[in-house]
Amino acid sequence: MADELEFDLTLYPEPVLRKRAEAVTDFDAGLKAIVEAMFRCMATAGGVGLAAPQVGLKRRILVANATGEPGDDLILVNPTILERTGSTTVYEEGCLSFPGIYAEVERPDRCKVRAQDLEGNEFEAEFEGFPSRIVQHEYDHLEGVLLVDRMSPADKTRHRAALEELVCEFKHRRAQATAAKSGVAPRRGLPGARR
Ligand SMILES: [Zn+2]
Repeated sequence: MADELEFDLTLYPEPVLRKRAEAVTDFDAGLKAIVEAMFRCMATAGGVGLAAPQVGLKRRILVANATGEPGDDLILVNPTILERTGSTTVYEEGCLSFPGIYAEVERPDRCKVRAQDLEGNEFEAEFEGFPSRIVQHEYDHLEGVLLVDRMSPADKTRHRAALEELVCEFKHRRAQATAAKSGVAPRRGLPGARR
């Protein structure tokens, strides 16, 4: 297929990550192309889940694969978490929008979801353990809730420098984009510390 969609990861604190994503209404080839590109982006980044705002799209789409096996691809369009049950567990979560940052997050073990597939068919599914955690994490993204909001105060302190660095890099990118738009040569300022 020519001209495959290709996404770059959207990193904290890009504003789109803070917006509530909007419902998908067109179940067409465009949606399929987006989902396929999201899976490619997630695999390249070595992630287990990805929500559309993380590729800059304000849409209620999430993809996940807890095992890396092709048969375990999960696609949830317009998901709603109907209930969260079971005992709560604490687990160290990472997020592709927060490279290099891991924090302990407490979540209920099970969740029940209603969603649509790529054709728009509604279905319900129950998840537990790791897949449930991924679904709850990615669902947070659709509501504009981020890893940094779920962190304990201790983790926030521990990661303060890394979080500040992400903010610096974001400001730098924005300044470059503004400069490029106005035709002014971008000023070299912050060294782009990349991991
Ligand atoms: Zn995330």
